[in-house]
Amino acid sequence: MDALVIGAGPAGLMAAEELAAAGRRVVVCEAKASAGRKFLMAGKSGLNITKQEGTDRFVAAYQAGWLDPVLREFGPDAVQDWCRGLGQDVFTGSSGRVFPVTMKGSPLLRAWLSRLGAAGVELRLRWRWTGFAGDGWRFETPEGERLLQPAVVVLALGGASWPRLGSDAAWVPWLEARGVEVAPFRPANMGFAVDWSPHMARHFGQPVKGAALIVGDRQERGEFVISARGIEGGGIYAVSRALRDGAALHLDLMPDLAADDLLSRLARMKAGETLANRLRKLGLSPVAVALVMEFGRGLSPVQTIKALPITLAGPRPIEEAISSAGGIARSALTDDLELRALPRVFACGEMLDWEAPTGGYLLTGCWATGRWAGRAAARTG
Ligand SMILES: Cc1cc2nc3c(=O)[nH]c(=O)nc-3n(C[C@H](O)[C@H](O)[C@H](O)COP(=O)(O)OP(=O)(O)OC[C@H]3O[C@@H](n4cnc5c(N)ncnc54)[C@H](O)[C@@H]3O)c2cc1C
Repeated sequence: MDALVIGAGPAGLMAAEELAAAGRRVVVCEAKASAGRKFLMAGKSGLNITKQEGTDRFVAAYQAGWLDPVLREFGPDAVQDWCRGLGQDVFTGSSGRVFPVTMKGSPLLRAWLSRLGAAGVELRLRWRWTGFAGDGWRFETPEGERLLQPAVVVLALGGASWPRLGSDAAWVPWLEARGVEVAPFRPANMGFAVDWSPHMARHFGQPVKGAALIVGDRQERGEFVISARGIEGGGIYAVSRALRDGAALHLDLMPDLAADDLLSRLARMKAGETLANRLRKLGLSPVAVALVMEFGRGLSPVQTIKALPITLAGPRPIEEAISSAGGIARSALTDDLELRALPRVFACGEMLDWEAPTGGYLLTGCWATGRWAGRAAARTG
C-alpha cells in the first residue's frame, strides 16, 4: 500500500485530495459506515465554513502561532474558492460568517466524495484502526482483522467531542505508547452547568437576548439559552475558553444604558417598589428578571443589572461540546505535521492540540491542516 489516510472527516478527505493530486495511490479508511458524519451534523445548524475577515485577525483567533503559515496558505479566501470549485456557491452573512448557499454539508460532501472517487481515492468504510501490530497498522473490518503496511500515513481521527459521530479519541493510548505526546482533551465551545433553584424551572428553554457577557476585561454581546442543564448558546461559546480556564462570568443585562442613566431612572421610581417590579419597568424580560432574583441577592440594583455574577458549576461534558481542546502536542510534530516519534506518519485536523471559537474557524483549521499534512506526506517516499 502506498498512502493511507485514517479518518474520513474534513481533514482526512483534504489530505487524501492532496495526496491524489500529487499522483499517490490513496486509501482512506473510515470506522463508520459513511464519511463525514460530524461535518454533516455541523451542517444541520447552518454550515459555517469560514470567517471573512483580515488575515491577521483571522489567524489570531486560533491563539496558536505555529498554525500561522498553515492558515495563511489556506485561509478564508482559499476555502471559499475551494467550495465554489465543488459547485457550492457561498455567501457572507452578518459578522463575516461564510456559509454555502444551501446552508448544509450534504451537497458539498457528495460533490467532494465523487471528485475524490474520480481522482482514484479508494474509500474503505467500516474499517476501524485498532492500533499497531509490530510495524503494521491493525484494522477491524467487515471481513475480519486486517494488517496494513503503507509507505506513508496521514492520521485524521478528529478530536473528542460528540464521540458517537466517530471521533472517540480511542487512539490516544496507542500513540502515547509509541512516544507521541498528547495533551489531555477538554471541551471547547461548550455550555456550562448551573445549579438552579427550583424557581428557575419555568424559564427553561428561554433565550436571554441583548445582554453583554463580561469575562475579565472582555465584553461579548451574544445570546444564550437557559435550560435544566445550565446555560448554552453562541454567546456562551464565545467566552467558554476563558470560563473553562477559571475566569468568572458577569452579565450586563442593559449594555446600552450607562450606569448613571440607570441610577436616575431607578431614582424616579416609587420608593418601596419591589426590585422585580423596578426591573420589569426598566424593560427587562421575565427570564432576565429571574436571573437577577437568582444571583443578585445582596447587590445594589445597579450592580444586579450592570454586573450580575453568574455562578457556574463547571463546563458541560465533552460529549456535548462543539469541539475539543487538547490532542497531539505541537512539540510532537515537525513543521510538516509529521510525528517526530513516528516518521512517515502525519496528523491533521481536530486531533491536533489547537482550539478555536465557532464562526467557521474550526472547519477552516481542519481543511488547512489536512491540506498541509497531505502535501507533506505526498513528498515523502
Ligand atoms: C454540532 C456541531 C456543529 C458544528 N458546526 C460547525 C460549523 O458550523 N463550522 C465549523 O467550522 N465547525 C463546526 N463544527 C466542528 C467541525 O465539525 C469539526 O471541527 C470537524 O468536523 C473536525 O474535522 P476532523 O476531520 O478533524 O474530524 P472529524 O470530522 O471528527 O472526522 C474524524 C473521522 O475519523 C474517524 N475515525 C475516528 N477514529 C477512527 C478509527 N480508529 N479508525 C477509523 N476511523 C476513525 C471518525 O469516524 C470520523 O469520521 C461543529 C461540530 C459539531 C459537533
